[in-house]
Amino acid sequence: LLPSVEIPLVDLPTFWLERMRQVDVFTRKDSPRPVFIEEQLSTAVNVENNTGTLYFEQLERMCHQLASGLYHKVGVRHGDTVAIVLPNSIYYLVITMAIQLLGAICTPANPAYTAKELSDQISHSGSRFIIASSSSLSTIKDAINLLPTSCKQRMQLFNNCTLHILTGDHTSDSRSCDRVMGVRSVFEILSEKDYPRHRLYTKDQLSSTPAFVCYSSGTTGLPKGAMLSHYNVVANILQGISVHSQMVTSLPRTTLAALPLFHSFGLVQMAHCLPLCGSSLVTMSTFTMDCFLSAIEHYRITDSLLVPPVINALTKLATSGTKFNDISSLQWIISGASPLSASTIESFESCLPGIKVMQGYGLTETSPGLSLNMPDQRNIYSSGMLLPNIEVMVVDYQGISLPEGKVGELCFRGPNIMMGYFNNSEETQHTIDSNGFLHTGDIGYIDCQRHVYVTDRKKELIKFNGFQVAPAELEGVLLQHPHVLDCAVVGYFDNTRLTELPRAFLVLAPNQISTTLDANTIAKDIVDWMNSKVAYYKRLRGGFVIVDAIPKSASGKIVRRLLKHSPSNT
Ligand code: AMP
Repeated sequence: LLPSVEIPLVDLPTFWLERMRQVDVFTRKDSPRPVFIEEQLSTAVNVENNTGTLYFEQLERMCHQLASGLYHKVGVRHGDTVAIVLPNSIYYLVITMAIQLLGAICTPANPAYTAKELSDQISHSGSRFIIASSSSLSTIKDAINLLPTSCKQRMQLFNNCTLHILTGDHTSDSRSCDRVMGVRSVFEILSEKDYPRHRLYTKDQLSSTPAFVCYSSGTTGLPKGAMLSHYNVVANILQGISVHSQMVTSLPRTTLAALPLFHSFGLVQMAHCLPLCGSSLVTMSTFTMDCFLSAIEHYRITDSLLVPPVINALTKLATSGTKFNDISSLQWIISGASPLSASTIESFESCLPGIKVMQGYGLTETSPGLSLNMPDQRNIYSSGMLLPNIEVMVVDYQGISLPEGKVGELCFRGPNIMMGYFNNSEETQHTIDSNGFLHTGDIGYIDCQRHVYVTDRKKELIKFNGFQVAPAELEGVLLQHPHVLDCAVVGYFDNTRLTELPRAFLVLAPNQISTTLDANTIAKDIVDWMNSKVAYYKRLRGGFVIVDAIPKSASGKIVRRLLKHSPSNT
């Protein structure tokens, strides 16, 4: 059992900056290491010294200056929500912490979103400001056009023509947009010297003020805003450190930050946690296997956090006999976001000896870490040992608590359980019971050493390469097509790529099937149409199946398990 940790009531940026000040490798007078290093091929440029590195001293100063600039020059206030639509960069945390220093809330979004997906998150989260990279500006413009009027008014588009859009980089692109759209670069407002009037949090506010609102579909339906308080995130950082610190046996360490920072796994467990354990982070703005391998060699990477399909691809590459980069510096990999089998870990470690894989498990709603394997007590069949300060309960389908070792729905209680879903008390009550246990929708069990085993998923969620795909969202899009009478989307597990692929079951409108256009051609057109309307990772890669009817329960809910194993028509 891991000893419990004490969680201070302090806001996230103050906590992080204070703790970082005590990490000698970053703060020593004599040759400190940079905290963040921009991966070489990235286009972003460090405005201060143009070297693509960020040292602690610079980082801390920039956080306060940016907070000040956002307050005085942009008008960000306590309680405002700011949408962050950025790829990974060395400035990501500077931006989020500056916002949080003001008591404002960050809602991170995937920069690959379509205009419609972005406008949904902006309007649902009530964002008043958007920080995006200059390359996303045209999508942002389209997203704003799609916003409901009430939302545009909130963003003050009509009052004073101020578009509260900032770019998180400093390219000439952003400056040319400046004239057209009123876009300002984050770096232009960094010059502010006065400290903002920081919001001083009361103890109550620290456990009830969101630091982040991260979107997740939870156990059912459309994406919802999981509100993670400052207290939740500080707790999960400390819970994570209690295990990570056991892996960090020698310094210096350099982590390749390949996971996206808009997802809670990358944001909290990678970007906030690992620097506090003394690891410098090399940020990758886009992931390709070639870039990943060259970065490991170039920066002498010691560790990385990855998703199972990447571990699988690495194993295949190593067994194929193809010569690739020297990755001998790599010592361990943490895998999360979807299941990784013991056999995949074994094949990986047998062809890449010297690298250990530690599996972890968590959810956006749990800020996100729940369990992680540790070097000395690793169990490759499990998703890791329960982190400190977390209680577990396994329940059967009637909600009755089961003894250790019995399979049921995994439920957790602890300081990292989200405050609830933003503006959705019904779903919050459905997910967090009256005793404070969060019902995950995952099926599994726990052993006497507090190792967690995730064996199945009862919730609707599909995970493609670790990214969430909400079936209800895709069904909503498909139903807008005039040739679709009814539909269902379920995940189909691809054993070669080790990931689920969204597959559509379609009931075609009867009058559309004629002798000239057969059902398969119509369905293919529908799939192409749908794929053009969603971000790349939500596409129907699992193909389609034409059916006469969608199986439904008496209450009208889709019975997905009856569709799970049907072969596709494509
Ligand atoms: P997200 O909120 O995007 O982090 O997704 C959380 C979901 O991913 C969990 O509820 C699980 O269904 C799945 N997941 C994450 N890690 C694991 C793991 N190690 N094993 C099995 N499923 C996992």
